[in-house]
Amino acid sequence: MNLDDLPIRDDLRGLSPYGAPQIDVPVRLNTNENPYGPSASLVTGLAEAVRHGAAGLNRYPDRDALALREDLAAYLGHGLTAERVWAANGSNEVIQQILQAFGGPGRCAMGFEPSYSMHSIIAGGASTEWIPALREEDFGIDPDKAVAVIAEHRPDVVFLTSPNNPTGTALDPAVIARIVEAAPGMVVVDEAYFEFARTGTPSALTLLPDNPRLIVTRTMSKAFAMAGTRLGYLAAHPAVIEALLLVRLPYHLSTLTQAAARVALTHRDELLGTVDMLRQERDATVEWLRDLGLKVADSDANFVLFGVFADRHAVWAELLDRGVLIREVGPPGWLRVSIGTAEEMAAFRAALEGIL
Ligand code: PMP
Repeated sequence: MNLDDLPIRDDLRGLSPYGAPQIDVPVRLNTNENPYGPSASLVTGLAEAVRHGAAGLNRYPDRDALALREDLAAYLGHGLTAERVWAANGSNEVIQQILQAFGGPGRCAMGFEPSYSMHSIIAGGASTEWIPALREEDFGIDPDKAVAVIAEHRPDVVFLTSPNNPTGTALDPAVIARIVEAAPGMVVVDEAYFEFARTGTPSALTLLPDNPRLIVTRTMSKAFAMAGTRLGYLAAHPAVIEALLLVRLPYHLSTLTQAAARVALTHRDELLGTVDMLRQERDATVEWLRDLGLKVADSDANFVLFGVFADRHAVWAELLDRGVLIREVGPPGWLRVSIGTAEEMAAFRAALEGIL
Protein backbone atom coordinates (compact mmCIF):
# COMPACT_ATOMS: atom_id res chain seq x y z
CA MET A 1 0.00 0.00 0.00
CA ASN A 2 1.23 3.53 -0.64
CA LEU A 3 0.05 7.07 0.01
CA ASP A 4 -2.16 7.17 -3.10
CA ASP A 5 -4.19 4.21 -1.81
CA LEU A 6 -5.26 6.13 1.29
CA PRO A 7 -8.47 8.17 1.37
CA ILE A 8 -6.42 11.36 1.66
CA ARG A 9 -7.95 14.79 0.80
CA ASP A 10 -8.01 15.29 -2.97
CA ASP A 11 -6.19 18.62 -2.66
CA LEU A 12 -3.25 16.92 -0.93
CA ARG A 13 -2.84 14.19 -3.56
CA GLY A 14 0.46 14.36 -5.44
CA LEU A 15 2.00 17.00 -3.14
CA SER A 16 5.50 16.67 -1.62
CA PRO A 17 6.32 17.80 1.92
CA TYR A 18 7.96 21.24 2.21
CA GLY A 19 11.48 21.48 3.54
CA ALA A 20 15.01 22.53 2.68
CA PRO A 21 17.41 19.60 2.34
CA GLN A 22 18.96 18.76 5.76
CA ILE A 23 22.41 17.70 4.57
CA ASP A 24 25.33 17.33 6.96
CA VAL A 25 28.02 19.45 5.31
CA PRO A 26 30.70 21.72 6.83
CA VAL A 27 29.08 25.02 5.79
CA ARG A 28 25.29 25.24 6.09
CA LEU A 29 23.94 28.50 4.72
CA ASN A 30 20.51 27.39 3.58
CA THR A 31 17.83 28.01 6.24
CA ASN A 32 18.56 31.56 7.45
CA GLU A 33 19.53 30.48 10.95
CA ASN A 34 21.81 32.57 13.14
CA PRO A 35 25.18 30.74 12.93
CA TYR A 36 26.15 31.58 16.50
CA GLY A 37 25.15 29.05 19.17
CA PRO A 38 24.29 29.98 22.76
CA SER A 39 27.11 30.90 25.16
CA ALA A 40 28.05 28.59 28.03
CA SER A 41 26.22 30.87 30.49
CA LEU A 42 23.05 30.83 28.39
CA VAL A 43 23.25 27.03 28.12
CA THR A 44 23.51 26.90 31.93
CA GLY A 45 20.51 29.23 32.26
CA LEU A 46 18.49 27.09 29.85
CA ALA A 47 19.45 23.89 31.67
CA GLU A 48 18.39 25.39 35.02
CA ALA A 49 15.06 26.49 33.62
CA VAL A 50 14.48 23.05 32.10
CA ARG A 51 15.40 21.38 35.43
CA HIS A 52 12.94 23.65 37.25
CA GLY A 53 10.21 22.98 34.68
CA ALA A 54 10.94 19.25 34.65
CA ALA A 55 9.90 18.93 38.30
CA GLY A 56 6.36 19.90 37.30
CA LEU A 57 6.02 17.97 34.03
CA ASN A 58 3.22 15.80 35.44
CA ARG A 59 1.05 18.94 35.05
CA TYR A 60 0.02 20.67 31.83
CA PRO A 61 1.75 23.96 31.02
CA ASP A 62 0.16 27.39 31.43
CA ARG A 63 -2.33 27.11 28.57
CA ASP A 64 -2.25 30.84 27.89
CA ALA A 65 1.54 31.22 28.32
CA LEU A 66 0.90 34.48 30.15
CA ALA A 67 4.33 35.07 31.67
CA LEU A 68 6.00 34.43 28.32
CA ARG A 69 3.57 36.75 26.55
CA GLU A 70 4.34 39.48 29.10
CA ASP A 71 8.06 39.04 28.43
CA LEU A 72 7.53 39.13 24.67
CA ALA A 73 5.40 42.28 24.95
CA ALA A 74 8.14 43.94 27.01
CA TYR A 75 10.71 42.96 24.37
CA LEU A 76 8.58 44.35 21.52
CA GLY A 77 7.90 47.65 23.28
CA HIS A 78 5.48 49.97 21.41
CA GLY A 79 3.31 50.00 24.55
CA LEU A 80 2.27 46.38 23.95
CA THR A 81 0.90 44.18 26.74
CA ALA A 82 0.32 40.42 27.09
CA GLU A 83 -3.30 40.74 25.91
CA ARG A 84 -1.98 42.00 22.54
CA VAL A 85 0.65 39.29 22.11
CA TRP A 86 0.28 35.61 21.25
CA ALA A 87 2.84 32.81 20.91
CA ALA A 88 3.05 29.37 19.33
CA ASN A 89 5.56 26.75 18.13
CA GLY A 90 7.36 28.86 15.55
CA SER A 91 5.81 31.62 13.50
CA ASN A 92 4.66 28.90 11.10
CA GLU A 93 2.22 27.73 13.77
CA VAL A 94 1.19 31.31 14.46
CA ILE A 95 0.41 31.68 10.74
CA GLN A 96 -1.48 28.39 10.72
CA GLN A 97 -3.66 29.58 13.61
CA ILE A 98 -4.32 32.88 11.79
CA LEU A 99 -5.47 30.98 8.70
CA GLN A 100 -7.59 28.59 10.78
CA ALA A 101 -9.36 31.55 12.33
CA PHE A 102 -9.59 33.96 9.39
CA GLY A 103 -9.27 31.68 6.33
CA GLY A 104 -10.91 28.32 5.68
CA PRO A 105 -13.16 26.74 3.05
CA GLY A 106 -14.69 29.32 0.69
CA ARG A 107 -12.17 31.96 1.76
CA CYS A 108 -8.96 33.14 0.13
CA ALA A 109 -5.56 34.49 1.09
CA MET A 110 -3.15 36.56 -1.01
CA GLY A 111 0.60 37.06 -0.97
CA PHE A 112 3.06 39.05 -3.12
CA GLU A 113 5.53 36.69 -4.77
CA PRO A 114 8.31 35.74 -4.82
CA SER A 115 7.88 35.34 -1.07
CA TYR A 116 7.93 32.78 1.71
CA SER A 117 6.27 29.74 0.18
CA MET A 118 4.97 28.39 3.50
CA HIS A 119 2.30 31.11 3.47
CA SER A 120 0.60 29.45 0.49
CA ILE A 121 1.31 25.93 1.78
CA ILE A 122 -0.20 26.65 5.20
CA ALA A 123 -3.18 28.28 3.43
CA GLY A 124 -3.62 25.05 1.45
CA GLY A 125 -3.49 22.97 4.63
CA ALA A 126 -6.23 25.22 6.05
CA SER A 127 -8.35 24.74 2.88
CA THR A 128 -7.91 28.40 2.00
CA GLU A 129 -7.61 29.35 -1.67
CA TRP A 130 -4.25 31.00 -2.46
CA ILE A 131 -4.09 34.03 -4.75
CA PRO A 132 -0.55 34.87 -5.88
CA ALA A 133 0.00 38.57 -6.59
CA LEU A 134 3.31 39.81 -7.98
CA ARG A 135 6.13 41.96 -6.71
CA GLU A 136 7.90 44.44 -8.99
CA GLU A 137 11.20 43.80 -10.78
CA ASP A 138 13.11 45.23 -7.77
CA PHE A 139 11.03 42.89 -5.51
CA GLY A 140 9.16 45.80 -3.93
CA ILE A 141 5.36 46.15 -3.91
CA ASP A 142 3.67 48.87 -5.97
CA PRO A 143 0.91 50.19 -3.67
CA ASP A 144 -1.45 51.18 -6.53
CA LYS A 145 -1.20 47.75 -8.13
CA ALA A 146 -1.61 46.10 -4.71
CA VAL A 147 -4.76 48.08 -4.00
CA ALA A 148 -6.14 47.10 -7.43
CA VAL A 149 -5.44 43.38 -7.04
CA ILE A 150 -6.96 43.44 -3.54
CA ALA A 151 -10.08 45.17 -4.90
CA GLU A 152 -10.32 42.50 -7.60
CA HIS A 153 -10.05 39.43 -5.33
CA ARG A 154 -11.14 40.76 -1.93
CA PRO A 155 -8.90 38.35 0.02
CA ASP A 156 -9.83 37.42 3.58
CA VAL A 157 -6.14 37.44 4.55
CA VAL A 158 -3.25 39.36 2.92
CA PHE A 159 0.37 38.40 3.65
CA LEU A 160 3.13 40.99 3.47
CA THR A 161 6.62 39.76 4.32
CA SER A 162 9.02 42.49 5.42
CA PRO A 163 11.92 41.97 5.15
CA ASN A 164 10.84 39.53 2.48
CA ASN A 165 12.15 35.98 2.14
CA PRO A 166 13.87 35.11 -0.25
CA THR A 167 14.57 38.60 -1.60
CA GLY A 168 15.49 40.53 1.61
CA THR A 169 13.28 43.49 0.60
CA ALA A 170 11.79 45.63 3.39
CA LEU A 171 8.50 47.47 2.89
CA ASP A 172 7.84 51.11 3.67
CA PRO A 173 5.16 51.28 6.44
CA ALA A 174 3.29 53.78 4.21
CA VAL A 175 2.81 50.97 1.65
CA ILE A 176 1.64 48.61 4.39
CA ALA A 177 -0.78 51.27 5.69
CA ARG A 178 -2.32 51.69 2.21
CA ILE A 179 -2.76 47.95 1.86
CA VAL A 180 -4.36 47.65 5.30
CA GLU A 181 -6.76 50.43 4.34
CA ALA A 182 -7.66 48.69 1.05
CA ALA A 183 -7.92 45.14 2.41
CA PRO A 184 -11.37 43.94 3.41
CA GLY A 185 -9.95 41.36 5.86
CA MET A 186 -6.88 40.71 7.94
CA VAL A 187 -3.39 41.83 6.93
CA VAL A 188 -0.44 39.84 8.27
CA VAL A 189 3.00 41.45 8.19
CA ASP A 190 5.55 38.65 8.61
CA GLU A 191 8.54 40.30 10.28
CA ALA A 192 10.56 37.11 10.87
CA TYR A 193 13.74 38.98 9.85
CA PHE A 194 12.92 42.39 11.29
CA GLU A 195 15.90 42.59 13.66
CA PHE A 196 18.27 42.38 10.67
CA ALA A 197 16.73 45.37 8.86
CA ARG A 198 19.00 48.31 8.19
CA THR A 199 19.02 50.93 10.93
CA GLY A 200 16.02 53.20 10.85
CA THR A 201 13.65 50.77 9.10
CA PRO A 202 10.36 51.16 11.02
CA SER A 203 8.39 48.09 12.13
CA ALA A 204 4.75 47.58 11.15
CA LEU A 205 4.17 47.52 14.93
CA THR A 206 3.97 51.32 14.64
CA LEU A 207 0.72 50.86 12.64
CA LEU A 208 -1.02 48.60 15.17
CA PRO A 209 -2.80 51.25 17.29
CA ASP A 210 -4.81 52.50 14.29
CA ASN A 211 -5.41 49.15 12.58
CA PRO A 212 -7.29 46.41 14.46
CA ARG A 213 -7.15 44.13 11.39
CA LEU A 214 -3.34 44.19 11.29
CA ILE A 215 -1.25 41.33 12.67
CA VAL A 216 2.56 41.50 12.99
CA THR A 217 4.35 38.15 13.33
CA ARG A 218 7.88 37.61 14.64
CA THR A 219 10.06 34.64 15.55
CA MET A 220 12.90 33.65 17.86
CA SER A 221 14.30 31.41 15.07
CA LYS A 222 16.36 34.02 13.24
CA ALA A 223 18.07 37.00 14.93
CA PHE A 224 17.32 35.49 18.35
CA ALA A 225 19.35 32.38 17.43
CA MET A 226 16.79 29.98 18.94
CA ALA A 227 15.47 28.08 15.88
CA GLY A 228 15.58 24.80 17.81
CA THR A 229 13.29 26.18 20.53
CA ARG A 230 10.39 26.67 18.08
CA LEU A 231 8.93 29.92 19.33
CA GLY A 232 7.05 32.35 17.13
CA TYR A 233 4.76 35.16 18.24
CA LEU A 234 2.56 37.98 17.07
CA ALA A 235 1.20 41.33 18.12
CA ALA A 236 -2.35 42.39 17.29
CA HIS A 237 -5.57 43.83 18.74
CA PRO A 238 -6.78 41.84 21.79
CA ALA A 239 -9.86 40.73 19.80
CA VAL A 240 -7.53 39.01 17.31
CA ILE A 241 -5.97 37.04 20.16
CA GLU A 242 -9.49 36.04 21.25
CA ALA A 243 -10.10 34.69 17.75
CA LEU A 244 -6.88 32.66 17.84
CA LEU A 245 -7.87 31.13 21.19
CA LEU A 246 -10.81 29.53 19.36
CA VAL A 247 -8.52 27.46 17.12
CA ARG A 248 -5.35 26.89 19.16
CA LEU A 249 -4.88 23.45 20.66
CA PRO A 250 -5.01 23.55 24.45
CA TYR A 251 -1.49 23.45 25.98
CA HIS A 252 0.14 23.86 22.57
CA LEU A 253 3.28 25.45 24.05
CA SER A 254 5.12 22.99 26.29
CA THR A 255 6.39 23.94 29.73
CA LEU A 256 9.95 23.47 28.42
CA THR A 257 9.40 25.69 25.37
CA GLN A 258 7.91 28.46 27.51
CA ALA A 259 10.77 28.22 30.01
CA ALA A 260 13.49 28.21 27.33
CA ALA A 261 11.97 31.16 25.49
CA ARG A 262 11.77 33.20 28.71
CA VAL A 263 15.42 32.49 29.51
CA ALA A 264 16.38 33.49 25.96
CA LEU A 265 14.50 36.77 26.39
CA THR A 266 16.43 37.57 29.55
CA HIS A 267 19.66 36.95 27.55
CA ARG A 268 18.48 39.10 24.65
CA ASP A 269 21.56 41.34 24.73
CA GLU A 270 23.83 38.35 24.17
CA LEU A 271 21.59 36.75 21.54
CA LEU A 272 20.94 39.92 19.55
CA GLY A 273 24.60 40.90 20.03
CA THR A 274 25.48 39.01 16.86
CA VAL A 275 23.01 40.95 14.69
CA ASP A 276 25.36 43.86 13.93
CA MET A 277 28.10 41.46 12.89
CA LEU A 278 25.70 39.56 10.63
CA ARG A 279 24.45 42.79 9.08
CA GLN A 280 28.03 43.83 8.26
CA GLU A 281 28.78 40.40 6.81
CA ARG A 282 25.57 40.66 4.75
CA ASP A 283 26.47 44.09 3.34
CA ALA A 284 29.98 42.86 2.52
CA THR A 285 28.49 39.79 0.79
CA VAL A 286 26.18 41.96 -1.33
CA GLU A 287 29.14 44.11 -2.38
CA TRP A 288 31.37 41.13 -3.11
CA LEU A 289 28.73 39.44 -5.27
CA ARG A 290 28.11 42.71 -7.16
CA ASP A 291 31.85 43.09 -7.75
CA LEU A 292 31.72 39.66 -9.40
CA GLY A 293 29.24 41.17 -11.87
CA LEU A 294 26.24 39.26 -10.49
CA LYS A 295 22.74 40.64 -9.94
CA VAL A 296 22.09 40.98 -6.21
CA ALA A 297 18.90 42.03 -4.43
CA ASP A 298 19.24 44.70 -1.71
CA SER A 299 18.87 42.88 1.60
CA ASP A 300 17.44 43.87 4.99
CA ALA A 301 17.65 40.27 6.20
CA ASN A 302 20.33 37.70 7.11
CA PHE A 303 20.51 36.29 3.58
CA VAL A 304 21.24 37.50 0.08
CA LEU A 305 19.51 36.58 -3.19
CA PHE A 306 21.82 36.59 -6.19
CA GLY A 307 21.94 35.41 -9.79
CA VAL A 308 21.12 35.17 -12.55
CA PHE A 309 22.45 31.77 -13.60
CA ALA A 310 21.52 29.91 -16.75
CA ASP A 311 21.69 26.69 -14.71
CA ARG A 312 21.31 27.58 -11.04
CA HIS A 313 20.99 23.95 -10.02
CA ALA A 314 24.47 23.27 -11.41
CA VAL A 315 25.94 26.16 -9.36
CA TRP A 316 24.06 24.95 -6.24
CA ALA A 317 25.32 21.38 -6.74
CA GLU A 318 28.92 22.48 -7.35
CA LEU A 319 28.85 24.53 -4.14
CA LEU A 320 27.54 21.47 -2.31
CA ASP A 321 30.39 19.40 -3.77
CA ARG A 322 32.72 21.95 -2.16
CA GLY A 323 30.98 21.53 1.22
CA VAL A 324 28.80 24.67 1.04
CA LEU A 325 25.02 24.23 1.22
CA ILE A 326 22.92 27.19 0.05
CA ARG A 327 19.30 27.36 -1.14
CA GLU A 328 17.84 26.94 -4.58
CA VAL A 329 14.89 29.27 -4.18
CA GLY A 330 13.42 32.44 -5.66
CA PRO A 331 12.77 33.37 -9.28
CA PRO A 332 14.33 31.15 -11.98
CA GLY A 333 18.11 31.53 -12.08
CA TRP A 334 18.53 33.01 -8.58
CA LEU A 335 20.11 31.44 -5.48
CA ARG A 336 19.92 32.45 -1.82
CA VAL A 337 22.80 32.33 0.66
CA SER A 338 22.21 32.76 4.41
CA ILE A 339 24.78 34.84 6.25
CA GLY A 340 27.07 32.70 8.41
CA THR A 341 30.19 33.37 10.42
CA ALA A 342 33.16 35.17 8.82
CA GLU A 343 34.82 31.77 8.27
CA GLU A 344 31.71 30.29 6.67
CA MET A 345 31.36 33.28 4.35
CA ALA A 346 35.02 32.99 3.39
CA ALA A 347 34.38 29.32 2.51
CA PHE A 348 31.34 30.35 0.44
CA ARG A 349 33.32 33.01 -1.44
CA ALA A 350 36.22 30.64 -2.13
CA ALA A 351 33.83 27.96 -3.39
CA LEU A 352 31.84 30.32 -5.62
CA GLU A 353 35.00 31.88 -7.06
CA GLY A 354 36.23 28.38 -7.89
CA ILE A 355 33.02 27.67 -9.79
CA LEU A 356 32.74 30.94 -11.68
N1 PMP B 1 8.33 33.63 8.05
C1 PMP B 1 9.36 33.72 7.21
C2 PMP B 1 9.40 34.84 6.25
C3 PMP B 1 10.39 32.76 7.24
O1 PMP B 1 11.40 32.84 6.38
C4 PMP B 1 10.32 31.70 8.19
C5 PMP B 1 11.37 30.64 8.30
N2 PMP B 1 12.09 30.33 7.20
C6 PMP B 1 9.21 31.66 9.02
C7 PMP B 1 8.24 32.63 8.94
C8 PMP B 1 9.00 30.54 9.99
O2 PMP B 1 9.89 30.52 11.02
P1 PMP B 1 9.62 29.78 12.38
O3 PMP B 1 8.45 28.85 12.21
O4 PMP B 1 10.90 29.07 12.67
O5 PMP B 1 9.32 30.86 13.36
